[in-house]
Amino acid sequence: MRVVATSCCGEYELCSEGGQYFVLRAAGDSHEETARGRFAQAAHVWEVLAAQHSCTEDEALRRRRWRPTR
Ligand SMILES: [Zn+2]
Repeated sequence: MRVVATSCCGEYELCSEGGQYFVLRAAGDSHEETARGRFAQAAHVWEVLAAQHSCTEDEALRRRRWRPTR
């Protein structure tokens, strides 16, 4: 199995194996498969899922960065 792309925080991984592509979603210690097919299909699913990610670390960072100094 080869990881083609990893989304923010490693939540979703786009992987290839045996000429097929699939998306793995991090679920606790393991991964669950969310899509499988040709590259265009799996990559599209990966992109859509990755775009829905709301990053708590980003939010925390933003809050820190924009917090008034006084
Ligand atoms: Zn993130």
